[in-house]
Amino acid sequence: MDRPLLMIPGPIEISPAVQRAAAAPPPGHLVASFMEDFARALAAMRDVWRAGPDAQPFVVSGSGTLAMEMAIANVVDAGDRVVIVQTGFFSDRLAEMARRRGAVVTVVTADAGCAPPVASVADAIDRIKPKVLGVTHVDTSTGVRVDAEGLAKLARAAGVLSVFDGVCATGAEPFEMEAWGADVYLTASQKAIGLPPGLALLVAGPRAIEARAGLKALPPLSIDFDAWQPVMQAYEAGRPSYFATPATSLVGALRVGLDEIVGTGDPAVAMAARWAMHARAAAALREGFAELGLLPLPASPEITANTLSALLYPAGIGPALVGAVRERGVIVAGGLHPARKDAYFRVGHMGWAAGSTDALLRTVLAIGEALVAQGHATDVEQAVTRTAAALSA
Ligand code: PMP
Repeated sequence: MDRPLLMIPGPIEISPAVQRAAAAPPPGHLVASFMEDFARALAAMRDVWRAGPDAQPFVVSGSGTLAMEMAIANVVDAGDRVVIVQTGFFSDRLAEMARRRGAVVTVVTADAGCAPPVASVADAIDRIKPKVLGVTHVDTSTGVRVDAEGLAKLARAAGVLSVFDGVCATGAEPFEMEAWGADVYLTASQKAIGLPPGLALLVAGPRAIEARAGLKALPPLSIDFDAWQPVMQAYEAGRPSYFATPATSLVGALRVGLDEIVGTGDPAVAMAARWAMHARAAAALREGFAELGLLPLPASPEITANTLSALLYPAGIGPALVGAVRERGVIVAGGLHPARKDAYFRVGHMGWAAGSTDALLRTVLAIGEALVAQGHATDVEQAVTRTAAALSA
């Protein structure tokens, strides 16, 4: 590869087949081949999300932030009580969206690199009796992953609607939307789904659709479940429909990308394999990073995500490391949590790269060589060997 390897937590390296699909001449939104792609993509979303037949997938042009806004605007009304699980920059964004909807927001706080225990969230739910619980599955600002199963089941048992931002998780971290009773699970195309940026992807369960029906303050028309649901239903049934022009090239790529993830076999088996691939890549990288003397920002292994690594700079090393890694052919990202952003950097390992031994080893090598160049004594060869051994174990 004669261009740098993109190892940030999104956008990510994408597969050759997805690239070809995204670069094809744009189809019209009412032609048969496009309708077929859209129908397959919507059905595959249910499989990847592990959602039930009564859940509604939505594919809308936009970013992950738009998907977050769509979720909040359709289930939160002015005056509603909302509890947000704080994990960092992106959970704070979710809280701000709920506030702007006129909700009364309670944040269950945690320090950077930590997640509130499920028991603390349970206490807040008991005390506040909210309508909605908002959770960031993996907070990309810190590499912290919450106990999504625990939180989804907690909300369900308490009769609280749960909204999960899966932008840095969906398609890579275990999530069982139907079995855990989660109400909205959203992501964006440029993360573990493995596409270029441009699609907001969201699945809403029946309780979320019902919540939209009961709103007093209508959501903005362009992100209204009611405006989009008939369009999604029509496409899934093989009929053309129109509300606003879909990103036709990206929908074609979505079909290819989701088929690569879930195929045509048993979705439970395919998703377990997909999650295991990300767990294996993350564990192997961590072997290499540990050898290089890089410690994770997340406070414990249980809350350390498999989609990215947030790594503390060793003594004497700072944000200039990111540029030095870039000079060695790999792009990584700086810190993002406002409280600690100059203390760590981030490496994404989602999608195509998580399945590429070459990409993972090149990443460890580039980071190791950059550390040495910046004056940090470490055995780079040993780090690469440890990563390779873990990948082939
Ligand atoms: N939530 C999370 C967890 C994210 O990682 C991101 C993007 N990094 C977003 C939301 C926002 O997505 P976008 O940048 O596509 O608007």
